[in-house]
Amino acid sequence: MTSSSQAHTGQTPAPSAEAEALHRALFTLDSHIDIPWPDRGDAFEDTEARRVDLPKMQKGGMSAGCFVAYIAQAKVDAEGHAEAQAQCLAMLDVINGMQGSQNGVTARVCSTVAEIEAAYQAGVLAVIPAVENGYAMGDDPAVLAQFRARGARYVTLTHNGHNALADAAVHRPSLGDKPENHGGLSALGREAVRHMNRLGLLIDVSHASKKTMLQAVAASAVPVVASHSCVRTLCDHPRNLDDEQLDALKASGGVIQITAMPAFLKPRDGEAPRSAGVADFVDHIDYVVRRIGVEHVGISSDFDGGGSLADWQNATQGVNLTAELLRRGYDRSEIAAFWGGNFMRLLGQAEAVAEQTGTIG
Ligand SMILES: [Zn+2]
Repeated sequence: MTSSSQAHTGQTPAPSAEAEALHRALFTLDSHIDIPWPDRGDAFEDTEARRVDLPKMQKGGMSAGCFVAYIAQAKVDAEGHAEAQAQCLAMLDVINGMQGSQNGVTARVCSTVAEIEAAYQAGVLAVIPAVENGYAMGDDPAVLAQFRARGARYVTLTHNGHNALADAAVHRPSLGDKPENHGGLSALGREAVRHMNRLGLLIDVSHASKKTMLQAVAASAVPVVASHSCVRTLCDHPRNLDDEQLDALKASGGVIQITAMPAFLKPRDGEAPRSAGVADFVDHIDYVVRRIGVEHVGISSDFDGGGSLADWQNATQGVNLTAELLRRGYDRSEIAAFWGGNFMRLLGQAEAVAEQTGTIG
């Protein structure tokens, strides 16, 4: 193997024919993908500028992806809230444009389990909108209904920096943050959780502080998701979940979606540039499985939001992850649970609670 081909396949050998066949046969969902902003209208083009576009998903045997309207944290004031809300709605509109047929690829925006399953049965890519940062609702939980009306299925309570809803794992002194502003969820944040439950929006605790996360688990009528986080015991980063948090996920039925962010996967080795591969990623899956069980862990890339591994650099290379899971001895049903089954269970639970208590569009 030449060094250049090694650079493409990273630490793992080429996937076996068995892994290729299994990967193609599975429903595969990536729970956290960013979109370029401002929009370039290139979702249907296979472009080097994106780690995930619809042609790469099709080529890589991906079935579904949660595409997020990511709003950077800025000042918590009326002006900041108005800008955040406007940008979020504009980004959700762009994500809603990721459907139809172009360049030999067909995609459909889906916002219920039934719609996602129907797209999969039809051989059509499922685009699932989501919102990253509750800052986008400002101080008005009624705005959450506008996100849901645009198909969103989860809202990440915070990004880096506290907002009006909750404290984040990483505070931002430059924005005036103290280490804690609320001691977890604010009263508004608790109200937002109730609204999200009624609307069928999952509560995403990635980026949230530990107190926020544990309080959200207790406050939500639906199990929470960490849409893109890793295991703190293996890599001591504030964005990761520690054992107490994993145990809370188990007790409540929640799910952690391990993510392809080297800084969350592996402690830095001296001065060497940080890099990680699917073997490191699956170490985190193994840990969660051993501690809380197969049904509480899934897969996210955070592609186009900073995620990338040596051997999972874009949406065409997900098979390397399936191959590593097979190598570790997981069977088809377990791999299917990681690649979307567990996340879909949560979506279904959110829909059931919304049907009992509110509306789901
Ligand atoms: Zn993020």
